[in-house]
Amino acid sequence: MNFCSHCGARVALHIPPGDNVPRYVCDACGTIHYHNPKTRGGLRTRVRGEDRAVPARDRAAARLLDRSGGFMENGETLQQAAARESREEALIDVEIGSLLSVVHVLYAHQVHVFFRGRMRSGSYGAGVESLEVELVHPDAIPWPDLAFPSTEYTLRRYLEDRAAKREAHYFTSSSAAFKADSFTLGRAHGRMAC
Ligand SMILES: [Zn+2]
Repeated sequence: MNFCSHCGARVALHIPPGDNVPRYVCDACGTIHYHNPKTRGGLRTRVRGEDRAVPARDRAAARLLDRSGGFMENGETLQQAAARESREEALIDVEIGSLLSVVHVLYAHQVHVFFRGRMRSGSYGAGVESLEVELVHPDAIPWPDLAFPSTEYTLRRYLEDRAAKREAHYFTSSSAAFKADSFTLGRAHGRMAC
């Protein structure tokens, strides 16, 4: 950032007294602008225990697919955020289940948190942020078209767990926000480490 969002003066990047990380500091009004990681709530959904399970979202111009999810609002829990995003993006009424994965996306300063979920009804559709929403059979997941490495990582853990009839949770970190970035850097694979 260049200017203080509080008073409009120019900010400088330095370590404030008592801190150990460089921050944008406004010397005019004294405001310290902290940039902390954003948390996304995501969701894997099953339809009443059936196999047909994964809501996919067509990301506008990129034509890449994603599960429903988005940034949290102030005052809501992770589970509430995941349920709200599923409502907004895929018109799905979902019961949030167990924690599935936490992916630290270091490059994008984000933390992606995924839950299992169960659709309370079979209805779904494209919300205002979605071009198209469909349920995809696990055998038909278009892996190369998934937008985010965190989605691919989580989907694979979900399917492994389901085959093993368990509900574990997983922590990992990624240095790429989008798979497109990975391709640009020539490191499309192997960026996720458990
Ligand atoms: Zn200021």
